[in-house]
Amino acid sequence: MTQPHPGKIWFVGAGPGDPELITVKGRNLLAQAGAILYAGSLVDRAATLYAPPGCVVRDSKDMTLEDMTAWLLEQAHANAVVVRLQTGDPALYGALIELARPLAAAGIEWAVVPGVSSAMASMAAAGESMTLPEVTQTVILTRVEGRTPMPDGEDLASLATHRTTLCIFLSITLLHKVETALRAAGWPEDAPMLVVHKASWPGEEKILRGTLADIKARCRAAGVASQAMIVASPTLGALHWETLVRSKLYDPTFTHRFRKASA
Ligand code: SAH
Repeated sequence: MTQPHPGKIWFVGAGPGDPELITVKGRNLLAQAGAILYAGSLVDRAATLYAPPGCVVRDSKDMTLEDMTAWLLEQAHANAVVVRLQTGDPALYGALIELARPLAAAGIEWAVVPGVSSAMASMAAAGESMTLPEVTQTVILTRVEGRTPMPDGEDLASLATHRTTLCIFLSITLLHKVETALRAAGWPEDAPMLVVHKASWPGEEKILRGTLADIKARCRAAGVASQAMIVASPTLGALHWETLVRSKLYDPTFTHRFRKASA
């Protein structure tokens, strides 16, 4: 079936795994979709829960970029709404631009609906904050080098010298490289670390806390070897610190646009 005007292709962030963590906009688009191409096992539940009857639903795990492009173009000629459903947020390690370029070149309209990244979901699961006043105000989202090489100046050892929050994707099987890099950057053996496996997945999430010295052994003991976020941050464990610098925004002695200082 073809239609007079090609439809629009939406790159939708499915969120980290819990189907309730997709955005309302993303869910509404799934409910209107004529075709959905989803990225592997991490997001199949959202696709199957929210897709309307009769929608063509396809897993992309065995497809090349060329296969996906051809499939999306074909579906855009038959449906007004086509969804490419991706884990977390589509703009992080999602091949977004590689997929969008041939669509744009073919004159097909496309747009992105952001999603809750697994970095956010992992911190949420552990009840941790990425930033704390006077501890760190910066977050680095990165990975270590696997088959995808790291550009110059981005090796973890040099990023880690900033002592900010590091959310390390795609690296759980390379935890030894993470440890080597943190040590090279001078992080102490007792630096707190967090690994979250399947963050937000109902019944499957695992939260492992440890230190630079023992996090690898803890992962091995828990059998965590895939689908995990590694976090190294000077903020970890702050819930139990004896002293904490307060946020200025909520400080009674601090005046701002919406509140006058009370003391
Ligand atoms: N776009 C995704 C990231 C895709 S790369 C996002 O924004 O989250 C895939 C990597 O993301 C995995 O290797 C893992 O490090 C991380 N990841 C994805 N889902 C996860 C989850 N539910 N829990 C922990 N890590 C996850």
